[in-house]
Amino acid sequence: ICRTLRLKNSLAVSGLTEILKVFNDIERGKLRNIDFVEAYSCAQGCVGGSLTVENVYISYNKILKLIENLEFEQIKACPDIREVRKLYSQKYFFIKGKFEPRPLKPLDKDLAKAIKKRKEKEHIYESLPKIDCGACGAPTCLTFAEDVVKGEAKLTDCIFNLPQRFKEPSQDFSELFNKYSFRSQTKSSPKKQTKKGKTIK
Ligand code: SF4
Repeated sequence: ICRTLRLKNSLAVSGLTEILKVFNDIERGKLRNIDFVEAYSCAQGCVGGSLTVENVYISYNKILKLIENLEFEQIKACPDIREVRKLYSQKYFFIKGKFEPRPLKPLDKDLAKAIKKRKEKEHIYESLPKIDCGACGAPTCLTFAEDVVKGEAKLTDCIFNLPQRFKEPSQDFSELFNKYSFRSQTKSSPKKQTKKGKTIK
């Protein structure tokens, strides 16, 4: 939006860690006179989303070149700039309301339990990829680890642990399959005796 509308006093930022830094700087008054912040949770926007296979910078530069070519060829790129400008003037891209800080909840009211949970949180965090992709809904892997300890998320909510979610049911399924396919085999294919007394299936 910032680039398309060539907005003055605007800032486009991507990646949750960078967004947090920018928001903190705005709150502290270090960054002033910013009318509009365009924030993308994934690095470089959608091209840096989880499960994207191409290098994020190569993809981003390809898109920029594509836009330049379209502009040079005077081919109308989608969406129409006038439409974007109209939506911007209608404050369509603005978040309404004020952000209120949420009080930090302790890991547990009981101090001994809270210490134990803290260690558990660190242990979980160590097992995570630490890439802060945000695909689980938590802004960082550390906050996700905290959510797991608090019982507000499951370890398999991390997309990198997703295969584990299917592992146990698939094991059960394969055990069931082996059990019943063996039974049906023994029922449908009874052993036969040859004339010479040998047993065949
Ligand atoms: S816990 Fe997993 S899904 Fe969540 S931010 Fe970290 S890597 Fe991404």
